[in-house]
Parts: sequence; C-alpha cells; structure tokens
Amino acid sequence: MAEGASSLPSVVQAEEWVGGKPEWFPVQRGKDRGLSPEDRRSKRRTVAGVVESGWRPPSGVAAFGLRAVLGVLGEPDLSLALTAAHLARWRRTSRFCGVCGSPTAPTLRHRAMACSACDHLLFPKVSPAVIVQVVEGSRILLGRSKRHPPGSYSVLAGFVDPGESLEDTVRREVREESGILVTNVRYFGSQPWPFPDSLMVGFTAESAGGVLQPDDDELEDVAWFRAEALPPVPPAYSIARTLIDDFARRHGVDPATVPTWKRTTRPG
Ligand SMILES: [Zn+2]
Repeated sequence: MAEGASSLPSVVQAEEWVGGKPEWFPVQRGKDRGLSPEDRRSKRRTVAGVVESGWRPPSGVAAFGLRAVLGVLGEPDLSLALTAAHLARWRRTSRFCGVCGSPTAPTLRHRAMACSACDHLLFPKVSPAVIVQVVEGSRILLGRSKRHPPGSYSVLAGFVDPGESLEDTVRREVREESGILVTNVRYFGSQPWPFPDSLMVGFTAESAGGVLQPDDDELEDVAWFRAEALPPVPPAYSIARTLIDDFARRHGVDPATVPTWKRTTRPG
C-alpha cells in the first residue's frame, strides 16, 4: 500500500468466501470496544466484503485480500480489518437458526443474529487455539506443516477441545504433534486470527522429556533449533513469529536476522 493510502477507506476481501453476490459488512469505529478516543472520532471505516472474482473496487476505495492486509495495515486499521472479516464470515454462516431452522436477521440490541421464529440468538463464534514456544535449554521446538512453504517451520499450535483448560491443550497438542512432554506452561499473549474465526492464545513451556516423533497427520517434521540457526519462519505480524522472536532475543540473536518464509502458492 502506498504511503498515505491508509487515509482511504479500507475494504477487505475475505478470501475464503469469494463467490456469490457482493455483501458488505461495515464496522464503524466507535461502535467497537477497545478502540481509543481518537479512533472513535475518526470517520474512516473498514469494511469486509464477500466479492466475486474479477470485482474491482470503486473509486477512492482500496481493496486488499485479508492475508495481504496483515503486512500493510497498521493499528487500529488492522484490528478493524480482522474484526470486520471475522464478523462478515459469521454473518454469512449464521443465516439460519440452529434450533428451529428458520431464517435469522441481525438484531440491534446485541451483536447477534436473531431467529425470526423462536428468538434464539446466534452470537459470533470464536474458536480458541493455543500456540506454544517450547524450549529445551538453548533450543526451540519447531514443526513443519504440509501447509507451510517448503523448508519452513513454526511453533506448534492446535485447537482447544471441549473440556480442556488452555494449559491442558498445550500439553496435549505438543505431546500429540511432537512426542515431547512439557512443563512450566506460562501465558505469553494472544492474537485474533480470523482464518476463519480463531483466537490464538500464546504460551511458553519447557521440555520435560519424551521422544521426538512428528504426528504424521499434522506435521512432516519436528526438530529442535538453536537461535542462531533458525529455519524460515512466519512473518512478523503473527503471534507465531512473536514467540520465535522472543526466543531469539533471549538467546542473543537479533530477530531482524531470523529468516522469514515466503508464500508462493497463494496471493495475499
Ligand atoms: Zn429458531
């Protein structure tokens, strides 16, 4: 995005739902919690849309794929874009009541879709997932997913199962994906991740032994890496990268020297 372009209204094309009629879902600053007074005074808007392929934005509007805005938008625009994309998808997938099957419509009283027949409310779905920096001495545990660019690695992650605490999920996911047992599980930070509707909850943990063995269904490889010999890892906007940068910094390596993976298979 060119310098100064952030003063234009932003439009997010939610890439997973390309097809069908254009459907715009504006998120106005000031109606969202967590924004600064400056944001609330601003007249700018971020809009998420489901668009047909080949769609061109109207004059004065800048359009980006959702993943593309991660690298270009600063705050608070990025938070608005992620929020808008999450809500746009939720609206699109909440058109019928799960209780009686009747059509739903947005309500003004809540941020919810309400059933036209039985008044059942559907609230936005958020799917929590954990993401973990596992360390053994001066090495970090990284895995290679089949979805990652060739030769690239990241920290381990997985969705929370019903009945689990977040710490339970950390211990289970790391054991299942790598064979490694962990202890000293500590909260690190979190990040909304609307691909399609996650909240990534970051943790640090220490290895407590086990036999390194990748889960064939999830990972091609798991391995320990020293800070000065890290493979290509996710870009800076992700909590995965924040966890890896934190490890590098604590072991005397400048995060700016850590290689970043390059996606070649999907635009934005
Ligand atoms: Zn209903």
